[in-house]
Amino acid sequence: MKLSEYFGRRVLVDRPTWQSGPPSPPVQVLPTIKDCGSEILCWRCGQRTAKRVAALPNGEFYCPHCINLGRVSTLNKFYHVPEPNQFRVVKPVLTWHGHLSVFQERAATAVTAGMAAHRHQLLWAVTGAGKTEMMFHGLAMALEHGERLAIASPRVDVCLELYPRLQTAFQNTEMVLLHGRQKQPYHYAQLTVCTTHQLLRFYHAFDNLVVDEVDAFPYAANPALLYATSQAVKQAGGCLYLTATPGKALLRQVRAKQLAVTYLPLRYHGHLLPEIHLRLAINWRHVLEQRHLPHSLVCEMYRSLVAGHRFLLFVPHVRDLPKMASAVKNDFTSPRFTIVHASDPDRLAKVQKMRDGKYDFLVTTTIMERGVTFPEIDVFVLGADDPVFSSAALVQIAGRAGRAASRPTGKVLFWVNGSCRRVRTAMRQIQFMNRKGRALQK
Ligand SMILES: [Zn+2]
Repeated sequence: MKLSEYFGRRVLVDRPTWQSGPPSPPVQVLPTIKDCGSEILCWRCGQRTAKRVAALPNGEFYCPHCINLGRVSTLNKFYHVPEPNQFRVVKPVLTWHGHLSVFQERAATAVTAGMAAHRHQLLWAVTGAGKTEMMFHGLAMALEHGERLAIASPRVDVCLELYPRLQTAFQNTEMVLLHGRQKQPYHYAQLTVCTTHQLLRFYHAFDNLVVDEVDAFPYAANPALLYATSQAVKQAGGCLYLTATPGKALLRQVRAKQLAVTYLPLRYHGHLLPEIHLRLAINWRHVLEQRHLPHSLVCEMYRSLVAGHRFLLFVPHVRDLPKMASAVKNDFTSPRFTIVHASDPDRLAKVQKMRDGKYDFLVTTTIMERGVTFPEIDVFVLGADDPVFSSAALVQIAGRAGRAASRPTGKVLFWVNGSCRRVRTAMRQIQFMNRKGRALQK
């Protein structure tokens, strides 16, 4: 193994290797498991496990929590070399020639200053604000100083989408992409793009770490990954969280002033977010069983179609989709639409047909909430109060509307059975950002 592959990482080695004598400097040996009496503590993922669960033969123990990264046990040690920042910086570092709006520029300046000071900070930018471009100047500054950086996201699709954009923006920088499904071997690089799970392999590696879509499932619910972030950053390193929908934990840190926050309440085209409006649809599933859509939904769909506006219609579950399809066919004459969901084998082809204008609307589930963008659309959600929709997901869904400068507004209508806290939270978050946005526009 090349020495550079130990830089800033914790690499597992088996007992025969580490028992055969101390490794040559600068390689250090780090422990894997701590014995805490009735429990063991894993130094890689920070999780505790009862000894009876973690037991191996002959009084040895392993960690079941992070086993998909390779088994950590009392039979292993970690080899580690403190991060030496051995990079050759080739200029120009930034090869992106796009422009930022005045508001983006202002947020980018704050983010860059935070990264220069290695602060822990949050960039709360609305959906469609162009937050990736806003961090380019900060990244360039840090790369020029020879810093080691990582951009991590809980979602592998975000990593896959981000990596080629970063390759274009930083053509002279050595990069590596890491995620669970990938077969390419690890190599030492100045910029790492990875899933947050992969951060568990690093130890005090990064001078600045960016976590994109910080509130996307499963990161928000996973303390092991929060531990991973704190372990992967150098002790004096900075951390930038990017989100359109900060959850309770982040907002609590902001209020406690542990986290500096930069707001970008306006979209890249300078307009506010379309706000959510509610409609009642009591027992809509019962109506659906009769092969009909709720009457008010049919009216709104007609209105959009007559106005020439295409739309996305969200429902809570994949099992709702076939019934929706038959109700749509019953209530409309020759509608141009299709149903699509996450594991639909034709998903990409259907999305492309929608882009090409072959459909007037898609009926879909939460899979369309992030990443997928169609210009000039309206957004309808039937059953928005279903527990499958978190308030963050509802903000993301609402954020599909008004993305294009050619139609920065759009209808966002949610049909609910009754009052719902998650729906109210989503509405309040959008109203909060719009108040900040209006103040900026003045
Ligand atoms: Zn573990």
